[in-house]
Amino acid sequence: MQNSRNYSKFAAHSFSMNVLRTKDEIGRYRKQLRHEGSSLGLVPTMGALHRGHLELVERACRENDAVLVTIFVNPTQFNNSQDLLKYPKTLETDLDKLKALHCTVSVFAPEVSEMYGDSPSARTYDFGNLEGVMEGVYRPGHFNGVATIVEVLLRLILPDRVYFGEKDYQQLQVVRQMVRQKNLPVSIIPCPIVREADGLAMSSRNTLLTNRLRKEAVFLYKMLEEVKNSFGTKNANEIAEFVREAFAAHPDFKLEYFSIADAETLLPVGATDETKKYRAFIAAYLGGVRLIDNLPLN
Ligand code: AMP
Repeated sequence: MQNSRNYSKFAAHSFSMNVLRTKDEIGRYRKQLRHEGSSLGLVPTMGALHRGHLELVERACRENDAVLVTIFVNPTQFNNSQDLLKYPKTLETDLDKLKALHCTVSVFAPEVSEMYGDSPSARTYDFGNLEGVMEGVYRPGHFNGVATIVEVLLRLILPDRVYFGEKDYQQLQVVRQMVRQKNLPVSIIPCPIVREADGLAMSSRNTLLTNRLRKEAVFLYKMLEEVKNSFGTKNANEIAEFVREAFAAHPDFKLEYFSIADAETLLPVGATDETKKYRAFIAAYLGGVRLIDNLPLN
């Protein structure tokens, strides 16, 4: 590894950050890395970066010669236009957070028109059962939008590894399936959920909560912990009933779904099987902000 490499993770911190804006720039960046024989890790994000994102980036830095972070609020994965408008956009602070890391990364922050031309639209995929549950039901079209941008980024950037958080566990399963279906030559690296000190899963949307609601938000995690504690002693239906009642009694939360599901297929559990892994999933609104979280149960 030579320090003089343009894109080296060990480049001096005084170097200005390499921010790429166009597909052509990505083409030149990729060519340079190939010329050097450097491996590339990709971390796709929608920005408003927090520790959860940064841990993905740091892991990518440990496992690759070069790392590219994409910051792109992908319009085709928003099924609610208000949600898209409200989504926090903080590019300058994001770049500062990346500069402060102990590894050097490049950033790809394209305009919507660069990725989609004049009229952003999603491709249609068949995710089978994976899209018939949870986010697939409550955010119709969401996973077509996610898979579209991920496929476009993977074909353009051709990373060796791509990093996804288990925070968006269903997204991770959908991307795995898309990569299998399309035969894309990339390793998908799942990364554990990073939480705030009180247990709330870090999320860009947490910044939209008022101080009062931010304190209430930990209820989501507390419920998942209770579910984990009773898994094995109560059956899934009893646990679901308990969760629904607890949310109904909460003055600020509105539960959208709760599910105990097979961690592979995401199908809701009937009888449990000791050879399989299960996870609990919750989506709920808190003061108009949609929060999701999940926890492994065994
Ligand atoms: P987003 O910017 O929300 O699209 O997230 C970009 C990536 O960061 C996705 O793979 C997310 O799953 C991951 N991510 C977001 N929040 C967390 C978290 N709290 N812990 C781990 N990964 C996360």
